[in-house]
Amino acid sequence: MKRFFFLLLLLFTRPFYGFSQTNILFTNPAAEQVITGNYDPQVYTPAMILNHPDSIIHGVLTTVNADSLLYNMIQLASLQNRNTGADTVSSVKGIGAARRWVHAQFEKISNQNNSRLLPGYLQFDQLICGAGQHRSPMAVLPGLDTSDPSIIIIEAHLDSRCEGLCDTACVAEGVDDNGSGTSLVIEAARVLSRYCFKHTIVFLTNIGEEQGLYGAEAFATVAENKNILIRAVQNNDIVAGVRCGQTASPPSCSPFGEVDSTQIRLFSYGGVNSPHKSFVRYIKLEYRENILPQSTVKMSVSIMTPEDRTGRGGDHQPFRQHGYTAMRFTSANENGNANVSDPDYEDNQHTSRDVLGYDTDGDAVVDSFLVDKNYLKRNTQINVNAAAMAAIGVLTPEFNYSLEGNQLNITVADPAYEVYRVGIRTNTYDFDSVYTLAGNSGTIHLDMAGIYYVSVAAEDSNKVESFFSEEQIVIVTGLKPWPSDSGIELLPMHPNPADEATTIVIYSRLLNNTEALLRITGSNGVLVSEIPLIIQKGLNEVNYRHTMGERGLKVVQLMVDEKIVATKNIVFTR
Ligand SMILES: [Zn+2]
Repeated sequence: MKRFFFLLLLLFTRPFYGFSQTNILFTNPAAEQVITGNYDPQVYTPAMILNHPDSIIHGVLTTVNADSLLYNMIQLASLQNRNTGADTVSSVKGIGAARRWVHAQFEKISNQNNSRLLPGYLQFDQLICGAGQHRSPMAVLPGLDTSDPSIIIIEAHLDSRCEGLCDTACVAEGVDDNGSGTSLVIEAARVLSRYCFKHTIVFLTNIGEEQGLYGAEAFATVAENKNILIRAVQNNDIVAGVRCGQTASPPSCSPFGEVDSTQIRLFSYGGVNSPHKSFVRYIKLEYRENILPQSTVKMSVSIMTPEDRTGRGGDHQPFRQHGYTAMRFTSANENGNANVSDPDYEDNQHTSRDVLGYDTDGDAVVDSFLVDKNYLKRNTQINVNAAAMAAIGVLTPEFNYSLEGNQLNITVADPAYEVYRVGIRTNTYDFDSVYTLAGNSGTIHLDMAGIYYVSVAAEDSNKVESFFSEEQIVIVTGLKPWPSDSGIELLPMHPNPADEATTIVIYSRLLNNTEALLRITGSNGVLVSEIPLIIQKGLNEVNYRHTMGERGLKVVQLMVDEKIVATKNIVFTR
C-alpha cells in the first residue's frame, strides 16, 4: 500500500510540459544551415578524408578515453549546481558556467579538427524555476553528402537537481544524473570529429530535463517546424553508475549494494514494427559485430520492453512524440528511484549525494567510486559506434517473402548491393538470428512452428549495414514443436584426460547466435572459469586451456538462459 501511494505521488509530482517553448532559435546560423540541409558540404571537407568504417571502428576502440570521461564529470561536478534556474553569471558555479564550459569543450574540439565542428546553443523562452530564457549547448558535425540530409543526434541532459525541484542553492553535483551522459556526449564529439560521415551528427546537451523535458521538447519542436530530418536520437541519462541503491524504478536492480559494470539497458517505445525497437536492435548488432570481438570486457546490451522505467521519463520521449526515432541508454544499476518525497529515501539519485564517490581514508581523494569511468567508456563506445555506422550506412531495402513449409524465401526488391542481412526474432524484442544473404535472395529454414518477425538490411562493400526494414510477420504452422529437452548438448571433450588444454564440443539444434555460458568449476564447486559463448546451430568447438598446476577433476557446465542444460567432467593431468 505504501509503495502504491508513493508511486501515485511520483506521478502527480512530475510536472507536465504543457506550456510550449517560444522564440526557439539556433544561436549559430552556420550550424542551423547544416541541420536544415542548406549548406555546401565542400566547405566542411578536410584535405584528408577519414571515412572508412575500419578506421572509424579502430578509432572507437582506441580513442574513447576513460580519463577524459572522468575529467568531464569532475569538471561538471565542480560547478556545484546545474539546476536550470541556477546562477548564470558566475564563472565558477551554476548553470551559466556549466553551459559555457560545455560550449568551450566543443570549441576546443573544433579547433583540433579544422573548425569542422560547429558549436552553438539552442535558445528558447520558457519560465522554469524562475528563469525565463534558456540555452542548451550543442555542436554540429556536418555530413558530406547532402542527398539525404537526415541527422543523427547523441544527447544528454546537462541540468542537475537536489530534492527540491527548483533548489538553486543546494549542492547538486549530479555526477551520474547526468554528468555521466553529458561527459559521454562531449567525448563522442571529440572522438567522431576526426572522421567524415555522410550524415550530419549533432551533439546536444539539454537544459530543463528535470522540470519536464523542456530542452528536448524545444529541439524536437523546432525540428518539426523547420522540417529537419532526424534519422535517430540516442539519449544518454544515468550511464556511469554501477551500484544498486535500496530503491530503483522497475525494471531494475537488486539487491542493495550489487555492482554491475558490464550491462547497459536500452529503452525504447513500441513493439512489433516499432522503428525505435528496430534502432535499438541495430545498436546492439553493430556493437556485437564491430566492438565486442575486440573488447576485453564484454558488455551485455539489454533491450528493454518499455519506453522508460516505471513512472520515469527522459529526453528521448519528446523526439518520439514528434515522430522521430529515439531511444535511451541507462545503467543496469541505478542508485535510487528519485522518490525524494519519501521520508525514508536514502539513495543518491536527485539528491546532493549524487557525487563521484567517497574518500574513505581521509586524504581528500575519492577512492571509493559510485561511478565507473571504464564502464562509462564502454557505454560511450556503444554510442559512438552506433552513431557512426548510422551516419555512413546505406539506404534501407524493401523485401518480399514466400513460405514453403518451413522454408522462408526472401527476395530483396530493387537490389543495389551484393549482400543483405535478414534479422529474425520470435519471443523477445531482440534478434534470435541475423543471417547473411550473398545476393538479393535466399532461403532460411525455420525450425519450429510459431510466429517470426522478419526484417532485412542492406550491407555495402565495406560491411556497413543500413537500418533494418519494417518487420513482416511470418507464421509457420504444422511443424514439430520444440523438442522437450533443451535442444543443446555437450559431446565428449577431446582429449579427456587432457594435459593442459582440451576442446569442448557443443551440439545445438537451437537457432543461430544463441547466447550461452560455459562454467568450469573444481570438483568442490569453486569457480575456475566462465566463458560466454554465442552458439551456432550444429557443432560448436571451444578451446579451453586450464591454468598450469590446477590438475585434477573439473566440472564443465553449459548454461543457457541462466539454466544448466548439460554437465560433463574432465580430468587435467598437468
Ligand atoms: Zn536524468
